[in-house]
Amino acid sequence: MKTQSLHKRESELANANRQLEILSNGIFQNGELPTFAEKIKETQQFPLRPKKLEILQINVGYMCNQVCEHCHVDAGPDRKEIMTRETMEQCLEVIRNTGAHTLDLTGGAPEMNPDFRWFVEEASKAGIKDFIVRSNLTIIRANKKYYDLPEFFKKHNVHVVSSMPHWTRGKTDKQRGDGVFDASIKALQELNAVGYGMPDSDLRLDLVYNPSGAFLPGDQASMEKDFKKALMEDFGIQFHNLFAITNLPISRFLDYLIASDNYEDYMYSLVEAFNPSAVANVMCTNTISVSWDGWLYDCDFNQMLGLQVASKVKHISEYNEEILNNRNIIISQHCYGCTAGAGSSCQGTVA
Ligand code: SF4
Ligand code: SF4
Repeated sequence: MKTQSLHKRESELANANRQLEILSNGIFQNGELPTFAEKIKETQQFPLRPKKLEILQINVGYMCNQVCEHCHVDAGPDRKEIMTRETMEQCLEVIRNTGAHTLDLTGGAPEMNPDFRWFVEEASKAGIKDFIVRSNLTIIRANKKYYDLPEFFKKHNVHVVSSMPHWTRGKTDKQRGDGVFDASIKALQELNAVGYGMPDSDLRLDLVYNPSGAFLPGDQASMEKDFKKALMEDFGIQFHNLFAITNLPISRFLDYLIASDNYEDYMYSLVEAFNPSAVANVMCTNTISVSWDGWLYDCDFNQMLGLQVASKVKHISEYNEEILNNRNIIISQHCYGCTAGAGSSCQGTVA
């Protein structure tokens, strides 16, 4: 398992333009496979347009204590991009006035931003209905200064959404690094201990599953059952829902696909599994994504590909929901990952 980000390794895939080139050339250029735009034109769904804004997703930095094999952010301890308090202030102004009902903080490991707690305290005062923090779990056990995170989350009624690739040690550690499984189990037990994930608890704890290789996720409902059974039997752990997410062919997962000679087969399987009814509900139709430096994107994936919104409003400092809502969404072949099978978003399946 690699322990450095693509950026640190100076991989050509650290360059978003290079990724976009790969996604536009080869099988999509020579007509073997239709581009995503051609595909959604067939069902009169082009151009892709936003519906009502529901989710404001803020990426507070790319630093992470892990270097997972398939990370679409290319996060890791060597990434230094971190949202400043000044940009957080601009975000808070938007959070207080947005029509969105969900605030979704992500990273990297968002908890590693030195102003994370201040930001959560301030943002929780805005009265947003659903306040999500995407926690990788191991951060809770990474260092003493994070040990009280379960209590902190509880105090601010944060909805915790955590990645957990499998209920076995082997599969989890292979994808996310040695020791990740044991630390995640301990963190889940600690979240349970303060009330997270209990059947009647308002303290929401959801898990996110993504496949460990070049294949699509199985059925979300049956996987949730399997996860619940195994985690309860083996460790007494409870959680609310499992979201099954498809790996999008960008960043470290694209690197993995190319290195393992699976890129073309994977794109074929995404295109074959294209589900036109998933298109209407892809994440970008109800979400705005904000980067650590305040730029606006249709989704976290477009953020990583450097594809800023096609709107005259491009930065959080000039945010205007009405103008933003009147834009076309920028698409490329990675979007096939959101429309395969039952569809995929940060909240799991969409169709
Ligand atoms: S924990 Fe999440 S952000 Fe961190 S490296 Fe893994 S996938 Fe990326
Ligand atoms: S990758 Fe982003 S822009 Fe493309 S369909 Fe998915 S959410 Fe929309």
